[in-house]
Amino acid sequence: MNKEVVIVGGGPAGMLMGLLLAKENVNVTVLEKNKSLSRDFRGETIAPGSVYLLKKLGVFPALEEHGFIKVRKIKMYDREDKLFSVNFDELDHPQKYGIDMPQPVVLEALKEKALDYPNFQYIEGATFTDLIKEDRKVVGVRYKESGHELEVRTKLVIGAEGRYSRLQTLGNFQVKKKEFSRDLIWFKVPKPADWEEGNLIKVHKHDHVIILPTYPDFLRVGTYISLGGNRETKKKGISTFIDKVCAIEPKLRIPMEEHITSWDDTTLLKIFTAHVDDWANDGLILIGDSAHTLSPILGQGVNIAMQDAFELLPYVTNGLKTHSEALPANLFHRFIEERKKQVSFVSNFQARQEQNLSASSPLQCTIRKVKMKLLDKAPFKNKVMKKLQYGVVANETMEV
Ligand SMILES: Cc1cc2nc3c(=O)[nH]c(=O)nc-3n(C[C@H](O)[C@H](O)[C@H](O)COP(=O)(O)OP(=O)(O)OC[C@H]3O[C@@H](n4cnc5c(N)ncnc54)[C@H](O)[C@@H]3O)c2cc1C
Repeated sequence: MNKEVVIVGGGPAGMLMGLLLAKENVNVTVLEKNKSLSRDFRGETIAPGSVYLLKKLGVFPALEEHGFIKVRKIKMYDREDKLFSVNFDELDHPQKYGIDMPQPVVLEALKEKALDYPNFQYIEGATFTDLIKEDRKVVGVRYKESGHELEVRTKLVIGAEGRYSRLQTLGNFQVKKKEFSRDLIWFKVPKPADWEEGNLIKVHKHDHVIILPTYPDFLRVGTYISLGGNRETKKKGISTFIDKVCAIEPKLRIPMEEHITSWDDTTLLKIFTAHVDDWANDGLILIGDSAHTLSPILGQGVNIAMQDAFELLPYVTNGLKTHSEALPANLFHRFIEERKKQVSFVSNFQARQEQNLSASSPLQCTIRKVKMKLLDKAPFKNKVMKKLQYGVVANETMEV
């Protein structure tokens, strides 16, 4: 089989890339290892910048048909003392809210839209296994589907396999990986009736919880434990864990006592960040989590992954017009340079917040309080938030 472009991975980056290329009449295939689009506890909050993109692409009506929660605020409290808040209504952009909805619905809507184009192909249950190289250039991929070893030749492989990317290794990319000093436990509970809207970060002394209202009427809650402390946490029992969370947010006690009855109701997550030095080889480029895995703080992974795809599009379509075989890596230098600026802006912001959240001594906690209150009043607050939440579409003005 021959294709102009092969995308490995049908997550937010890969599926959007597929749709964008399909719209430009590019002969494109997406290989996705899973047979279903089902995902749990992944990227349910889509930042306003990506919502704006989805509206521009005409994907939004399918999301409205399903339903979602509008996310207009991010708030940070030290117990009941407000430290910081952002209200998207106050940001100078026509898209006034992010959304929270199950990621499979978003992926399905992107896929359905792309399937309107006969030049788009989606192969589910297709696991990428190896790169095909000639003269050190990538010219295709091998994959497994229903027990068969198959291959597809192409001018460009786009790696959008997510955080555990095999392409990173097979492409010999240099990766800087950093493990966080703590692990994260996530769980989901029904939302109490009087719950206020907005994504909430609550801190208290050396501990904190992140609480995200989740479609249709749940809260996703994340809290840190010490690195490798899962066994110790479990030994103390689930009720000690509930006490730890409720010491910070007492309103979670009833839903937690009813719904978090064993560790099976929770998910342990290892947090790491990873940054690939150079994202391209001849015939191959990485985007999304494969190129840069960010921390979950402020839910920016999907936003950045989708914006990678959006920004990459003209480089690919121009390259396809001017090259008859593997697209050379140097075509993408400018793209990589620009995207790395945005990625490092977001990851530096997240690292500063992580430092604030991991404050442990009383002095550090006081400094955190003062810093966040000052940031809340700072004249540049909304400018920084706009850049973070809207990225490449920050200066667009089309009413949506
Ligand atoms: C617990 C958690 C919560 C998060 N919450 C948020 C949030 O609220 N908001 C937000 O913006 N971000 C969030 N993120 C981050 C976000 O999920 C990712 O940044 C985003 O999904 C990256 O998109 P992607 O397309 O690059 O990769 P992925 O979403 O990981 O997609 C990769 C795809 O590639 C497929 N694949 C993998 N290997 C192969 C292979 N060998 N062959 C074929 N296919 C393959 C996978 O099945 C998958 O479908 C969260 C992450 C975690 C872990």
